[in-house]
Amino acid sequence: MQLITGISELVTNATSASTSAVHGTDEANASTHPTTEVGQLNVITDAAIIIDGERVAWSGPAAEADATLAHLGAGSAGTTASANVETTDLGGKAVIPGFVDSHNHLIFAGDRSAEFAARMAGEKYSAGGIATTVAATRAATDEELEANLVHLLDQATRQGTTTFEIKTGYGLTLDDEIRALNIINRHTEESTLIAAHVVPPEFKENPEAYVDLVIDEIIPAAAGQAKWIDVFCEKGAFDEDQTRRIVEAGKAAGMKPRLHANQLTDGGALKLGAELGCISVDHATFASDEDLAALAAAGTIVTLLPGVEFSTRQPYPDARRYLAAGVTLAIASDCNPGSCFTNSLPFCIALAVRDMHFTVDQAVWAATAGGALALQRTDVGHLGAGARADLVVLDAPSYRHLSYRPGVHLVERVVAGGEFVADNRPRL
Ligand SMILES: [Zn+2]
Repeated sequence: MQLITGISELVTNATSASTSAVHGTDEANASTHPTTEVGQLNVITDAAIIIDGERVAWSGPAAEADATLAHLGAGSAGTTASANVETTDLGGKAVIPGFVDSHNHLIFAGDRSAEFAARMAGEKYSAGGIATTVAATRAATDEELEANLVHLLDQATRQGTTTFEIKTGYGLTLDDEIRALNIINRHTEESTLIAAHVVPPEFKENPEAYVDLVIDEIIPAAAGQAKWIDVFCEKGAFDEDQTRRIVEAGKAAGMKPRLHANQLTDGGALKLGAELGCISVDHATFASDEDLAALAAAGTIVTLLPGVEFSTRQPYPDARRYLAAGVTLAIASDCNPGSCFTNSLPFCIALAVRDMHFTVDQAVWAATAGGALALQRTDVGHLGAGARADLVVLDAPSYRHLSYRPGVHLVERVVAGGEFVADNRPRL
């Protein structure tokens, strides 16, 4: 067992019952019941956390830690340094749940920094740039694609992300999409098939034939290998009718639906997402009141991607309007080589607060518990009893520093599944 003390602020995202409901709690049981109140960033000051294996056994006020350890049978009051308890004293630092990044495109090759520079110099972003990455990705070896993925995952881990969703979408042939899935499945259980990312160049004259290929060949081959089905529903990518057919085929093959919706235009993709039972609709840069009402009624999570608006110089959606409509919001990075090449959720949180008008609490919740809801995960995004022990130690006394000190590397140490997996402290 591990005891972490000296926590100035512990963001649990958990109900008080779930932080203390250790005794007699079956682990599997605890992790299948949501313990998060939607939108509620619960914070315990002067806190401690007890980790048993890869799970949180207890989190709560530091003053109760010794008694809780005794109760758990790991020692008695005053003997917390006994052989079976490893104690880490943080000396007054904030701890938050590991970030849950529910939207990533990390299987690719090539570099599009010149396209970014041109965009910043005044060129407009369009969905077509994806084709550049498709050519480079198809030409890359499996080893090159996986090495790039591992490098990006390592970067993101060191910035506090402990759960990753990863999409295909730069192969766009049967073989290339399946090989992307195989690589993804070696690194996360949150794998998404987005063969309908863009119509590949060889189908430019006949996009319907590509839709048929996705439905008749790629989706059946990906059944059992992809948890999620996703479509880029947008002008220049796939229209609503094509999106509907692809999503329905994915659902029939056992995949859960999510969508890229209303990134560039205010079409009908958001309403379609609500109608199709999407767990999350992502981007939602443009949303009408009617769209928001439909999403709130359907219980669809809206995942905002502030790094995309930043990197494409688009207008930022106003989170206050979405929240007022009763929509639950998540924040993710959308790390990809074209429209947004950041994998830093602290940066995304800072943007969300400054430019999307999230409160600090709302933004931290949306990047942790919100991301977990967008992936239908109850074991991550919070630090109540039974949660996976995924947590971030900040080099700061408060979680508020995440947006108060933008651009400063505040992620000091990262724990995933009970193990310290990153340590950014300076070496002397
Ligand atoms: Zn995306």
